[in-house]
Amino acid sequence: MTRATRVLVLNSGSSSVKYQLIDMADGARLAAGLVERIGEGAVPDHAAALDSVAEALGAAGMGLDSPDLAAIGHRAVHGGTRFTAPTLITDEVVQAMRELIPLAPLHNPANITGIEVARKLRPDLPQVAVFDTAFHAAMPESAARYAIDTATADRWSVRRYGFHGTSHQYVSRRTAELLGKSPESVNVIVLHLGNGASASAVAGGVCVDTSMGLTPLEGLVMGTRSGDLDPAVLLHLHRVGGLSVDEIDDLLNRRSGLVGLCGDNDMREIDRRIAVGDQRARLAFDIYIHRLRKYVGAYYAVLGRVDAVVFTAGVGENAVSVRVAAMSGLEALGIELDRTLNAARSREPRLVSGAGSRVAVAVVPTDEELEIAGQTFGLIENAQER
Ligand code: ADP
Repeated sequence: MTRATRVLVLNSGSSSVKYQLIDMADGARLAAGLVERIGEGAVPDHAAALDSVAEALGAAGMGLDSPDLAAIGHRAVHGGTRFTAPTLITDEVVQAMRELIPLAPLHNPANITGIEVARKLRPDLPQVAVFDTAFHAAMPESAARYAIDTATADRWSVRRYGFHGTSHQYVSRRTAELLGKSPESVNVIVLHLGNGASASAVAGGVCVDTSMGLTPLEGLVMGTRSGDLDPAVLLHLHRVGGLSVDEIDDLLNRRSGLVGLCGDNDMREIDRRIAVGDQRARLAFDIYIHRLRKYVGAYYAVLGRVDAVVFTAGVGENAVSVRVAAMSGLEALGIELDRTLNAARSREPRLVSGAGSRVAVAVVPTDEELEIAGQTFGLIENAQER
């Protein structure tokens, strides 16, 4: 009997479900798609969304009942301190994920719904949750703990968890491959710059610090989120400005970052505006870059020795201008960008540093779905061997 090697990856958000079917025998992407606008008309709920995923796969001859399907891998946002590795889903795991909802009220409920519906469709199939926080769970206490009263922090599970972990893990490993070295032997600063953005310091394959915190609000300037700010700003806006907690939440998560600064969050549009002399776009870009460079410097010091700085996600992979601005003037740190390599377009992992650069600068396209499929398949393979 041939072994089932296909993994269906599901990313269930509050209003959409993304899916990819990947064959782990060769990494081939057999199907991919997106069901949007859950809750509006044609797709009333997640059950209907997964029905239409199953239908699309069935129509392509790769239905959920196919014997080739080895497992379903679910993207899960918040694993708290409990889930630090890919986890085989059981009733007890779903219950524990439910208990984590207060830490991620926007994301975890949708993840759980997706899991429940998929388990109803294929109760016999191994299903695995891969957590966005897991890769960061290895961070030392000195990086993970906020400097507030310990008892209060522990009472409310307040600490740095970090997000985009699947991407940081995948990209740091691929960077080691690109350098022709083992992950254990390299130190990497990963800059995941999408609409959400985060940086991480990875030492020998282990995350030692990351910019996102209790929630994905901390750290870099993002498309619509502020990133770091004096926590007293919140108190001031509340006490003096009269803004409610929900208004402040909305401000910092949806009306800040690049959008708050200049009205646009798409780096292509910001590039275009800067080219025609738009001062607001210029300032937004400069603030974005200033914060990014601060994190590069901070993680350089955290790691002590850096082998590579790597850019990934929508902005990191595509915005030539961001890489130039972030990496310029760092020759004293051994960082030298090659302007020609940096300007070349490619979808492949590649070096964009000059031949003489002591620290490699790389662009490595992220692939969270492949990483989730790989971790899912790895877990069930190990379970079968035991
Ligand atoms: P998400 O965090 O939503 O997954 P992505 O990683 O897909 O986001 O990144 C989306 C962002 O990437 C867009 O908002 C845009 O700013 C940026 N982007 C995409 N393509 C380009 C490009 N060619 N040049 C500059 N920026 C780009």
